[in-house]
Amino acid sequence: MMSVQQILQGESPELRQSSSPVTEFDQELDELLENLKDTLQANRGLGLSAPQVGVHKQVVVIDIGQGIEAFINPKIIASFGQVSEYESCLSFPDYTLKVSRPQRITVDAHDDQGHLVHIDATDLLARIICHEIDHLNGVLFFDHLSEEDLYSQLLENSFVTDAETESHDAPSPSDAVRSVKQEAIQKAVQEELQLSIDMLSELSWKLVLSLEILKDYEHLFSQTVDWDALRKATDTMDQTIATVQVCIDSNSTTDSSEER
Ligand code: ZN
Repeated sequence: MMSVQQILQGESPELRQSSSPVTEFDQELDELLENLKDTLQANRGLGLSAPQVGVHKQVVVIDIGQGIEAFINPKIIASFGQVSEYESCLSFPDYTLKVSRPQRITVDAHDDQGHLVHIDATDLLARIICHEIDHLNGVLFFDHLSEEDLYSQLLENSFVTDAETESHDAPSPSDAVRSVKQEAIQKAVQEELQLSIDMLSELSWKLVLSLEILKDYEHLFSQTVDWDALRKATDTMDQTIATVQVCIDSNSTTDSSEER
């Protein structure tokens, strides 16, 4: 039975709460694990924690392409090295940020039967485990960045071109993270373009309307108004809106055809 849960989106007090350890390895836990796995799969995510679906228990599920693994009461007992890489979060789907994480970690956790397991994780797996354990402590990925760094990354993201992101396309474990990033950038660009033509459309009809009103009172003006230039301006605006709209439409069709 599929039971995809709603994932908490954006800053919410529930994502800031700490989760309690699991003590009963019972049917309730099994149901929570099923829900988390279904939700992770439905969202094609790499990792998901229980607090993201509003359950404050120390449970996370992770899928980096080798099947879904569950970690219960996970604790990092040792970490080595530092790597800065892109990551994203199902609770903040619009953001992909470069965050520094240990290159290798050793983790103690319980499996779904309550047995203690010992995991050695590196690179992408280590990164995702750290990200999900953070959720259990009410910590979000951008908490690792200074306000300045966060701001400059967000700005940089909105100006990165497709060509630049594609040049990083060497096969690596972080490909999944990169494709999430590329999607986020594309979405941000589309939104910005849409916003600009929405504003332009508003300007255009407001200009047309004000010209109509002004024309009625033309006889009151001491000097002549350049109606032709104003009319040309609305034509130019409409042309620009059409051009940008074609660009948005063609990008959104490439989007869906590229989906794997
Ligand atoms: Zn997350």
